[in-house]
Amino acid sequence: MHAVGSDEDYVESAICGGYKELGFSDHTPWLYETDYVADMRMTVEELPDYVNSLKELKDRYKDRISIKIGLECEYFENYITWLKEIVRKYDLDYIIFGNHFYKTDEQFPYFGRYTTTSEMLQLYEESILKGMESGLFAYVAHPDLFIRSYPQFDENCVNLSRKICKKARKMNIPLEYNVSGLEICKGNKEGYPHPTFWKIAADEGCLSIVGMDAHDNRCLENYALYDNAVKYLNKLGIRIVCNI
Ligand SMILES: [Zn+2]
Repeated sequence: MHAVGSDEDYVESAICGGYKELGFSDHTPWLYETDYVADMRMTVEELPDYVNSLKELKDRYKDRISIKIGLECEYFENYITWLKEIVRKYDLDYIIFGNHFYKTDEQFPYFGRYTTTSEMLQLYEESILKGMESGLFAYVAHPDLFIRSYPQFDENCVNLSRKICKKARKMNIPLEYNVSGLEICKGNKEGYPHPTFWKIAADEGCLSIVGMDAHDNRCLENYALYDNAVKYLNKLGIRIVCNI
């Protein structure tokens, strides 16, 4: 509910940009206990259409590009059993971990906009570590999202980054270098991907993956965006995975 372009537009743009494989990871819906309706994700009713559309494209384009079907999900403990059923039911290729909210977005605000205090940082920490420990996710999307709204990369942020990176190393989960964040945070005093976070990730020996997080299919046509991220991570000496 906050992207442009059809599913097929993304496939065409990825081919045009030189990609050999494209993973779709739209925001998962959640089967809420309340009548809450989120404004940034598809509804539960829309999920079959999402999967069917991608399956059809996967088949039709199989000679030109490999398509993987996934979802970007929070770790909502109360609803996670439902999510596991969904992954099985639709035979999804993978899910990634977007730590956007604490417990549920019915009650808690978006980490990317409201992490302005050390208390919110603590909720971010609790939530991201729990999600990583679950072992459900192929990688952690934008692990440094917290800095988007936090006033400055202070001691609390350094400590939090250490904990995230140590956990990622221990669990062997790649951390996503989120290319879309470079654009989203343009003009911010601080933003993600954050250089200090990535220095810590390098120091801890973490694995990384470059994620385009494209909300506009045209981002995929500019391969330099991907390439620049790879160069940046190489310079830091971080290992990069391309397949999950
Ligand atoms: Zn996200």
